[in-house]
This record gives sequence, C-alpha cells and structure tokens, in this order.
Amino acid sequence: MKVTNPTVKKLLEKYREISLLGNISAVLDWDLNVNLPPKASQARSEQSAYLTSLITDKWLNPEFKSLLEQANSHLDLLNEEEVSTIRSLNRSARFYHKVPKEVIVELTKTSSESLIAWQKARKENKFKDFAPFLKRIIKLNQLIAQHLGYKDNPYDALLDMFEQGLTVKKVRSIFVPLQPKLTNLLMKIKRSKQYLPESNLVDEQLNYSVDHQKQVALFALKKINYDFEAGRIDTSAHPFTIELDANDVRITSRYKTNDFRESFTIAMHEGGHALYEQGISPEYSGTPLSGGVSFSIHESQSRFWENHIGRNPEFINWLTPTLQAFYPEQLGQVSGDKLIKLFNHVKPSCIRVEADEITYGLHIILRFEIEDELINGRLKVENLPKAWNAKMKKYLGIEPKTDNQGCLQDVHWAHGSFGYFPSYLLGNLYAAQFCNALEKEINVEELLSRGELGTILSWLRTNIHQHGSLYWPDELVKRVTGEKLNPKYFIKYLKEKYSRIYSL
Ligand code: MG
Repeated sequence: MKVTNPTVKKLLEKYREISLLGNISAVLDWDLNVNLPPKASQARSEQSAYLTSLITDKWLNPEFKSLLEQANSHLDLLNEEEVSTIRSLNRSARFYHKVPKEVIVELTKTSSESLIAWQKARKENKFKDFAPFLKRIIKLNQLIAQHLGYKDNPYDALLDMFEQGLTVKKVRSIFVPLQPKLTNLLMKIKRSKQYLPESNLVDEQLNYSVDHQKQVALFALKKINYDFEAGRIDTSAHPFTIELDANDVRITSRYKTNDFRESFTIAMHEGGHALYEQGISPEYSGTPLSGGVSFSIHESQSRFWENHIGRNPEFINWLTPTLQAFYPEQLGQVSGDKLIKLFNHVKPSCIRVEADEITYGLHIILRFEIEDELINGRLKVENLPKAWNAKMKKYLGIEPKTDNQGCLQDVHWAHGSFGYFPSYLLGNLYAAQFCNALEKEINVEELLSRGELGTILSWLRTNIHQHGSLYWPDELVKRVTGEKLNPKYFIKYLKEKYSRIYSL
C-alpha cells in the first residue's frame, strides 16, 4: 500500500489503535460464542461494552476528526488507495459521529444480554421470554436509524450499514421479481419423476460419528486451502467466521449425528468466508481497507465455496470415494449420482441454515419483509410468531410447529443486527455472477471433476480477495463481471443445474 500523503499517514497511525481494539473485541466475541460459561454473561457484556466505549472515543477524538476533515478537503491530491482509505473511514466515522455514544454502548450491552436470553428462549421454545429483549433491540435500531438519517424508510439506514447504499427500494426491485421464479422452479423440481421427498441416507436411525465428521471438515478445509497456521476450527451453536487479525481468521461448525452433509457444507461455507479474509493483501492489514468490503460480497464468497463448488455434481462425484472411506457403513454402496441428489435435495423446510439453494432465497425474502415491518412499527413484537408463520405458509407452503423452528431460530436480532438478512440472498446473486465470469475464463467443471481447486482460488484471489475493501460492491462487481449486479445469473445457474440433476 503506497501512502505518501502525510495526513493519511497520521490517520492510519491513529486508526491502527481502533483496529487493535476491534481485534481485542473480536477475541471476546469469539469466546462468548464458543466458550463462555452461562454465569459469565453479565461480566462479558460489561467488558464488551467498555471496549465499545473506548473504540467510540477513538472515533470521536478531536484530532482524528480534524485530520479526517483535512484529508477530505484535498482528495484530489490522493492516490487510489488513499482515496479509498478515506472513503472507508468516512463511512465508519459517520456512524460514530452521528449516533450518540450512549446509544452505541447500550446496543453492545443489550446485544450481549439478548444473546444469552435468546439462547435460553430458543432452547425452551419460549418466545415470550425473548420478546422484551427484542423490543429493546428494535427500539435501539429505530433510534440509530433516526440519528443516521434516511430518505424514504428508516430501514434504509440500517441496510446501508451492511451494504453500501442499499435501500428497501433496491432490495424490493431485486426480490419481488425473484420470488415467483424461485417458487416456480421449486414446483417444477417437486413434479419431476426423479424427485424423492426423503432419503434413507439421512435418518434418525443412522449415526455418522462426530469424530469422522470433524475429519471430513478438516479434509474439506485443507482441500480448499484454508490456512490452519492462520486460523482454527471450533464448535458453536451457530456456525460463524471471525477475523481476529489478518493472521487469525477462525471458523466454527456444528455436528449432527443423523446427517453428515451439514458439517461438510458448513466447512465449505465458513471456509469460503475465511479464504476471503486470508486472501486480502497483507499490506492492508490494520488499515480501513482490511476485511471484506460488505456482508453481501462476503456471503458471495462463502456461498461460492458451499454451493458452486461443494454442491457441484462433478465435485461430489470426485468426493464420493472420500466420503465412502469416512462413512463406509452408511455410504459404502452408494452411487455418486445418489449423493449428488442428496447434496442438492430441494425441499421446503423451516430452518434457513438447512435450506437448499432454491428455498433459501424465500427464507430471506420473508425476513426482509418482517424486518421492514418491525422497524417501521407496522408489526408488533407480540404478533411476530403469527406473522412469521403466515409468511412461511405463503412462501414455502409449510408452517413451523414451534417458535424455535420459526421466529426464534436466527441469532441476528439477538446480536442487535437489523438489515443483515438481505445480504445473504444478495450474496447468492453475486456468487452466481462471479461464477459466470470465472467460467468464461476457466473450465470449472473439468477442474472439479479432478478435485483441482487451486486455479479457482487463484482467480478469486486475483479478482476479489486481494482487494479487501478497496472497491465497493458495485465497483467490484463491475470490474470483475463487466456489469452491475444482475439477478439473471443466479436464476440461470439454478435452472441449468437443477434441470440436469432432475431432468426437468
Ligand atoms: Mg455466511
């Protein structure tokens, strides 16, 4: 990174402290999700809130503010990386300068408490116990939206925090036409003669040893080139990836004894997030250009490895003997074709993270609509379970029997996040568009039939990973694919793939 401007140099020195405090805070967050004993939740909430307050002070520091103003007044003198650095600083600073410190600290504190309350409420299936926390979280988010400001909808201000410039209008323009296309494809697959609603390879009677599943996850992570010298894998209730530093990118997973697929696809998914972080130019470490550029672009990388690689028929064919070696009793006699269908099994289900590629989008559309209604006060927290179930019926044709299968399933609201969910579906769209560009240059299927992933990773490294936050999502997608985000690639990918698998 070439920084010659003295103001930017000083800003980067100051930012380094913010970055370090952020890393320390991430260690606490990782520990909260992986190790924390229940009685320690109060203490952890105070520790995290204190760090947030220190970070906020750094952003509010008068010298830092005036340096940022100076840099902004002579952008024409800066090189591309310097301009991008200032743009990134402006974006974060805006949050700390507009939202009062008490509100920021309160959100951190409330989130830590809510997380513990949510875990218990979900376990015991008691939405009522979580409802008061959710109300506080919504109120704080509404307050944040007011302070940040917006043109049409307070939810816009929250969406923008996860994806630069994202608005309700933009999301609707993508999601509204997408929904019937997904529903139609789902109907077509279900009508196919080759469609089987159940598989005897996933059954309560079967026992896929957790130990072997962990070995498969390690195999998958090594295969995709995840750097274990700069990361590790642990177990948590909700799988996630967290960057504690450029050289410490950790992932978590979970294991179900009756289904061997989930821990494999989680390894590919979280591994994909981690490869992005591990592939960012080391020169950006500790600067505002470190880290993935947005939640959608991040999700495009995880979904790319999970779906475009991990669920690719050629790749599963190649993987079949390995899976058979790990699970000889259960899979020893199974054909590659059967495993391809199993990994690409399509069936409406209640749980988002277990959803197939087609119904996944419908889960997100539901959450987007509900968030919009909650933030705008059109939906009361008390009525959330009913509204959730009605939308499940409308979009997926099924209704959850309990709230932990419904509105209590996701961690995001308990974490204090509103506006996060749309990034998941946008990530799928970006992944398909990136993959389409990749296939123009490289014969992906041929490589996957040999289990050869190095060339694919190099392409991602060169075109996406190394840049970190240098280019914003709309610039990045234009650079890589020659056009702005276009949902047609996602639909094209799904249609082609599932037509082949189910002879549609
Ligand atoms: Mg993800």
